[in-house]
Amino acid sequence: VDEIDGNFVRTVKNCIFSRSNPTPLRGSLRLGAVSKDVIEGILDLDVAVTRSEDFLLYASGAKLLPGSAPLAHRYGGHQFGYWAGQLGDGRAHLLGQYLNRNGETWELQLKGSGKTPYSRFGDGRAVIRSSVREFLCSEAMHFLGVPTSRAASLIVSEEPVLRDQFYNGNVKTERGAVVLRLAKSWFRFGSLEILAENGEIDLLKKLLNFVIGEHFSWIHSDDPDKYLVFFSTVVTETAQLIAQWISVGFAHGVCNTDNFSLLSVTIDYGPFGFMDSYDPNFVPNSSDDEGRYRIGAQAEVGLFNLEKLLVALSPVLTQRQKKQAKIILKGYLDIYQMRLQQLFKDKLGFLGDEEEDEDDHLIVLLLKMMEDTRSDFTMTFRQLSEVSTNQLRSRNFTQMWALEDLSSHKLFSDWLIVYLQRLSRPQSESDLHRQQRMKRVNPRYVLRNWMAESAIRRAEESDFSEVELLHHILSSPFVTQDSAEEAGYAARPPLWANRLKVSCSS
Ligand code: AMP
Ligand code: MG
Ligand code: MG
Repeated sequence: VDEIDGNFVRTVKNCIFSRSNPTPLRGSLRLGAVSKDVIEGILDLDVAVTRSEDFLLYASGAKLLPGSAPLAHRYGGHQFGYWAGQLGDGRAHLLGQYLNRNGETWELQLKGSGKTPYSRFGDGRAVIRSSVREFLCSEAMHFLGVPTSRAASLIVSEEPVLRDQFYNGNVKTERGAVVLRLAKSWFRFGSLEILAENGEIDLLKKLLNFVIGEHFSWIHSDDPDKYLVFFSTVVTETAQLIAQWISVGFAHGVCNTDNFSLLSVTIDYGPFGFMDSYDPNFVPNSSDDEGRYRIGAQAEVGLFNLEKLLVALSPVLTQRQKKQAKIILKGYLDIYQMRLQQLFKDKLGFLGDEEEDEDDHLIVLLLKMMEDTRSDFTMTFRQLSEVSTNQLRSRNFTQMWALEDLSSHKLFSDWLIVYLQRLSRPQSESDLHRQQRMKRVNPRYVLRNWMAESAIRRAEESDFSEVELLHHILSSPFVTQDSAEEAGYAARPPLWANRLKVSCSS
């Protein structure tokens, strides 16, 4: 820990953390959203405590728990392909670790809690808009079954914060908010990169040993190959995480190495997006002009990031280990492909694994038809789960708008014949059971941009009812819910959804 006191912005050397205290938000505070699941299931508290004045103060950084010594983490990273030097927690404070009754250790962090030594040109704040998005999406991803950081609460204030939403010179006054977020660990690829880049090899080893000891406990501390095994694990789990992103149509938006977790959980929700119509070129972030982080490029970007991680590990690897690490990296795309194929087989309801080539063909052709017809990604898979094989056979798609779109493709009939044959193969299974199985992996509700946007517009007017509704619905994304249907969350996205933009401004 860097012992220099104070939050003044500076270049920091030879440390992993700097002491830094949150700067309380100005004006009256209000609880905008709370996750009962996190408060009760992870933090062992009764959700009723979140209605107290004390909770507002603790969860926004105005008050510290006894013994808490908040820290800002020093990390670097490759941003949009280039080494960006020192980044670090520029608006986040690590409050401490909590060991819960299940024996799990969670790190509590505030985001939007003021300047730190790593704030660079930023103000240390986060606005309601981006905080609602982070709160809702991290919780939604958890309930979709995708490894992710969690969000406990969202506190909003009256503190004015200036933002240029679309980087076009139109500065708007927004309001400050703080999210209390949790992860088993917030260390990123960039946490190691900055140490290697600066030749701080003792610290690099120290951090690696700590991360391995805390989070990769099956790796023996005296194993001479421990760093290699660690690397191999991160390679596998990163591949699997990105496959899971794709399987729910999620594009992270800013896949820089500072936003890739060493524990391979989704972190840093900024200009992410769930795609509506299927499009491998979907770019959620309007500031990403070249589409570097388009949804279909995420797997390759994962490889790029892992190459950078390997560079960071190189100072602690022997020549032989470096060679082996390169071989491990060569396996990355295969691991990704295998996981992806399994996920899509599950999405399509396939059992058994004798016909891999045929399955691949069915998946690839379906995606191609979806792309050509601009069919909705989420609802096509969902409706394939809800439709009976009889309906499919007779092409009776009343009220199945996504399947209607898809079936306009000239290859649909051919595909359907093979698909129905494939579904009939495990003969012991009833159609109802097949539908149930598919409905458990194909969500009916994801956090589409227009849904988030609509809730944010109200939240900015101090009405958090839609945030609450979304949070509730997205906590059971695989279950059809009346309130969600009424809100149109499973309907064709409204026309204005196409015109929405999200950028890095947050
Ligand atoms: P991101 O693109 O969100 O991953 O952020 C990249 C870097 O910019 C991180 O070091 C952040 O802490 C920092 N950053 C982003 N927004 C702000 C802000 N408003 N104030 C200070 N630092 C920021
Ligand atoms: Mg980040
Ligand atoms: Mg961010």
